[in-house]
Amino acid sequence: MKPKRINILGTPVDCVTMSTALDYVEDIILKANKPSSILAINPEKIIKAKKEPLLLKSLKQAKLVIPDGVGVVWAARLLGLGKMKRVPGAELMPAICERAAQKGYKLFLFGGKAEVNARAVAVLRKQYPGIQIVGHHHGYVSKQEMPNLIEKINTSEAEVLFIALGSPTQELWMEQYFPKLKNIKVCQGVGGTFDVIAGTIRRAPLIFRQLSLEWLYRLISQPRRFFRQVALPKFVYKIFVCRLTQ
Ligand code: UDP
Repeated sequence: MKPKRINILGTPVDCVTMSTALDYVEDIILKANKPSSILAINPEKIIKAKKEPLLLKSLKQAKLVIPDGVGVVWAARLLGLGKMKRVPGAELMPAICERAAQKGYKLFLFGGKAEVNARAVAVLRKQYPGIQIVGHHHGYVSKQEMPNLIEKINTSEAEVLFIALGSPTQELWMEQYFPKLKNIKVCQGVGGTFDVIAGTIRRAPLIFRQLSLEWLYRLISQPRRFFRQVALPKFVYKIFVCRLTQ
């Protein structure tokens, strides 16, 4: 069933939980006749979308926008817009893989460094016996090489495409290349998830995740993200202003 869609600071978010999101993804795989995107939203991306119209457009066109960050769940509750649970993209992807292994849906993994991409494929094959990963490719592809990659995706007959190029590159890729994809029904933008699956980047320890402090762990463990995370206080400020002026 199509989830309820709300808007936070002008950006769409769907009111889902892991289980309703997964069922909806399967529904799309079974019924779609063209590629549909699944994108993740967090406070940083909401702030970014305000400045990047193409990113905002792709979010608005997405079939499913999952609340990847706890800040989004918090804002939706504070503004009285809707109830949802956090659905991290890094958890939805393995959940889709598990369902695909059970049902025989064909998968393609595009993105990440060559060794990361190959390692993620190997890990998923080991973790979900019977999984049909019918193709994969690293994410450092020039514009000239793209037609070959599109051909590879099409001839693989994959129905689900995971794309890990970072944001907004992956969203812009979808916008540009969706019309050329023949069999893909669902395409999830997964950012750095292949790195997590391959084990080159560790997710936050359980205690950080349970306390909804994954963002803090990332800030400490990947200081290069500091400038990206300045979006957080900006987001909180804008949500409070929105609440006070409601
Ligand atoms: N990446 C890629 N091709 C590129 C640039 C980046 O495949 O041209 C990959 C990179 O190797 C990494 C992922 O994209 O695996 C980006 O991860 P990040 O955590 O930065 O994603 P975001 O937080 O932006 O969603």
